[in-house]
Amino acid sequence: TRVLLTGGSGFIAAHTLDVLLKRGHSVVTTVRTQAKADKIKEAYKGLYEKGQLDFAIVPDIAQEGAFDQAVVSDPPFEAVLHTASPFHFNVTDVQKDLLDPAVIGTTGILKSIKKSAPAVKSVVITSSFAALVNADQGLWPGHVYSEEDWNPITREQADDSPALGYRASKTFAEKAAWKFLEEEKPGFTISTINPPMVFGPIIHNLESLENINTSNQRILWPAQGKWKDEIPVTGVHLWVDVREVAEAHVAAFEKLDAANKRFFVVAGLFSNKEIPQIIKKNFPQYKDLPSDSTPGGDYPEGGKDALYSYSNERSREILGLKYRSFEESIVDSVKSFQAVGL
Ligand code: NDP
Repeated sequence: TRVLLTGGSGFIAAHTLDVLLKRGHSVVTTVRTQAKADKIKEAYKGLYEKGQLDFAIVPDIAQEGAFDQAVVSDPPFEAVLHTASPFHFNVTDVQKDLLDPAVIGTTGILKSIKKSAPAVKSVVITSSFAALVNADQGLWPGHVYSEEDWNPITREQADDSPALGYRASKTFAEKAAWKFLEEEKPGFTISTINPPMVFGPIIHNLESLENINTSNQRILWPAQGKWKDEIPVTGVHLWVDVREVAEAHVAAFEKLDAANKRFFVVAGLFSNKEIPQIIKKNFPQYKDLPSDSTPGGDYPEGGKDALYSYSNERSREILGLKYRSFEESIVDSVKSFQAVGL
C-alpha cells in the first residue's frame, strides 16, 4: 500500500515507519526540515534508492493548507497515518504552541485529503489516553478505562497548565476528526490510536540525550541520578511500549474491522518507583538511583486496587496486538540511551 506518514522524525513515527517498510509498504513521510529527512534517509539508504521511501517537507502543521501538496502523490496514497502533534511542556501560549498544531494539523490534513487525494481509503490518527482520561475522577477505583471514555476538559481548563493544555490539544483534535467524518462524509474511514505513557527504545532520531522525547524522560532521568532524593508523582499509571503503538498504527489500516474505531493501546499499570528498580536490577553501573526507601512515585495507598484499571481487549482482538512486559520495555529504552552516551 502507498502510505503517507506525518511527523516521521518523532519517537513513535520512527517505529511506525520501520514497521511500514518491513511490511513492504511504500512510504512518503513528512518532516519539518531537509536535515531531518537526511537523517532518516541514512538509516534506510537502500530502500530510499529503490524508491520505497521518500520525503515531503511540511514545516508547520498549524498553517492552513500545510498538507495540500504532501497528500498528492504518484502512485496515489491509499492510507494516511497522522502522528505529528506537539508533545512537550515548554509552552508560552497554549493556543499557539499546543492547540493550533494539534487541531488545525488534524482538520487540515483531513481537508487536504478530501480535496486532493481521492484514493485514500483509511486515515489513522495518533490520539492519546489524554483524550480518554477524566481528571475530575482522580484515582477512580473500580473504573475500567476503555474506548468508551472521553476527557471532559474545557477550553478554559486548557490554560491552567502546560500538561492540561496538552491533554486538551489531544482531546479537541480527536473530537474534531470524528466531527469531520460525520459532517463531511469523506471517502475514507478514520481510526484513532490512543496510547497512555509510551516507553521503549528510540531509533535513529536521537542525536543527544538533551532532546529526548517527553515520555522517555521518565526513564532517562532516574538513570542520570535526578531522582536520587525523591521520586516524582506518577500521574498517569498506564503505559505501553512504542513497538506495540507502531504495530497498532499499521494494523489499523491493514485490517478492515478497524475502520471508524478508537483503539486504547495499553499494556498495563506501572508506578514511577518501579522504573529505577528495573534499571538497578539490569544495569548495576548506574549508582545514583533512588533506593527502595526513597519517598514518592508509588501507587496510591491501597495499591492497584485503589486505582482505575483498563481494558485493551479491542486492540488485542481487532488489531491482534500482544503486549510485552514493562521490564523488557525499560531495559530496551536504557540500551537505546546508552548508544548516545548514557
Ligand atoms: P515526538 O515529540 O517525538 O514527536 C512529535 C512529532 O510531531 C515530531 O515529529 C515533531 O516534529 C512533530 N511536530 C510537532 N509540532 C509540529 C508542528 N507544528 N509542525 C510540524 N510537525 C510538528 O513525540 P511522540 O513520538 O511521543 O508523539 C507522537 C504522537 O504521539 C503525538 O501525536 C503525541 O501526542 C502522541 N502520543 C504520545 C505519547 C507518548 O507517551 N510519547 C502518548 C500518547 C500519544 P519535530 O521533532 O521536528 O518538532
